[in-house]
Amino acid sequence: MSELRFNELRGEQVDYAIHRQDRTFLPARDHCPLCPTRPDGPETEIPFPAFEIAVFDNRFPAFESPHGAAEVVVYTDDHDASFATLDADRAEALMWVWRHRYEELGARADVDYVFIFENRGVEVGVTLHHPHGQIYGYPFVPPVPALELAADERLGGCAPCVLLQRELADGERILHESDAVVAYVPNAARWAYEAHVVMREHRASLLDCTAAELRGLAEALQTLVRGYDALFERPFPYVMAVHQAPTTTHARGGGPGAGGGHLHIEFYPPLRTAEKLKYLAGSEQGAGTFISDTLPEASAATLREAIARGA
Ligand SMILES: [Zn+2]
Ligand SMILES: [Zn+2]
Ligand SMILES: [Zn+2]
Repeated sequence: MSELRFNELRGEQVDYAIHRQDRTFLPARDHCPLCPTRPDGPETEIPFPAFEIAVFDNRFPAFESPHGAAEVVVYTDDHDASFATLDADRAEALMWVWRHRYEELGARADVDYVFIFENRGVEVGVTLHHPHGQIYGYPFVPPVPALELAADERLGGCAPCVLLQRELADGERILHESDAVVAYVPNAARWAYEAHVVMREHRASLLDCTAAELRGLAEALQTLVRGYDALFERPFPYVMAVHQAPTTTHARGGGPGAGGGHLHIEFYPPLRTAEKLKYLAGSEQGAGTFISDTLPEASAATLREAIARGA
């Protein structure tokens, strides 16, 4: 069982999940626990010879019932695929899986925030290469979403709506647009190639999106990730973070969007050049201020070209 302790000096929770120390770490590919269980092959986490998308409880959970949840979402049974190489239909189906998990986990009394994410690449600590993402159900609203709710207060309305309008008016950092979504490098990006994929209309969560919007979201995410892979002509590491409305009882009771939140997906790539990583060092860790060597406008121009190459 994990244990939460409140760090008073920072005003935030720390989760101690000491059983995770022994989790599977970069196994040989014929011992991948996320591959299907093939006849004559080793038994994996997924007891089927083939599958499309699989969701199951994390065997090494950071959070578990009755104090939250931790799930694994395997995108495909093809070990060598990635989110970028999925068929459009499969990527769209993944959006519906996310939506279902958000609904089911969010309905639980011990889950105040459903956080869907993907860590890609050893640079961000991936322990299994098989294409997959994760979902944590936090028994509290964690600091980053809480900061976004504070931004709503500061801007006097939905912050992602306000910021999207500013980005569209400015135009310089836009990467990709469709009827459903807009992708851009934010005006004050922390990472050199940070990008946000934002629903064009106000949608508190995946539950509020139309089928066409979910399709548009999948298309935009794949477009961006293919561009990332084309940027340095190598699999591009990132953290992908899906931000949407908290699922506290209070938020649910108040009707759609009453608790704040606007569905958007943030990408934090640690690379600042093909070979150089951005490290979080003195200023970032000790003072909380990012120092960047790249202007977001220049990154956006470079990334737009990569997206065109990756299409
Ligand atoms: Zn595998
Ligand atoms: Zn909004
Ligand atoms: Zn966000």
